[in-house]
Amino acid sequence: MGNCIFCKIAKGEIPSASLYEDEEFQVILDAAPASRGHTLLLTKQHFANLYDMPDDLIQKAMLLVKKVAVAMKAELKCDGLNIVQNNEPAAGQTVFHFHVHLIPRYENDDVGLTWKPGELTEETSNEMVAKLQSIL
Ligand code: 5GP
Ligand code: ZN
Repeated sequence: MGNCIFCKIAKGEIPSASLYEDEEFQVILDAAPASRGHTLLLTKQHFANLYDMPDDLIQKAMLLVKKVAVAMKAELKCDGLNIVQNNEPAAGQTVFHFHVHLIPRYENDDVGLTWKPGELTEETSNEMVAKLQSIL
């Protein structure tokens, strides 16, 4: 993926503030942080998003997310932490190489990760269960 910015970071062709790396993952500071310590976990291999990820790699990614989260809590003394993983433009994905955001949260910060609560109607609930339960 010649034009992928995260492939270039993973190969060391573009500099990043790297906190951790192994054969499969790199953990870097986000260049435009939503909060103090906003961090990204990315795969070294190119996968556009979650749908494309092999199962064993996503398991390892989640274990590493937990390790980074616990380290952040201990060292940054954040009051909370959001794990965010965007897939496709409609969901806010702007870099089409799998990554997970770790966003430390501080009391009364202005990180805007909110949504307007809707209402789950019986009709929608039945439809979702009918569509998804059988294939999961
Ligand atoms: P997305 O919107 O795709 O979930 O998140 C992409 C993230 O990558 C954004 O938070 C953005 O600030 C970050 N980002 C984009 N380009 C670079 C870069 O060159 N270096 C680093 N460290 N972060 C980047
Ligand atoms: Zn890539």
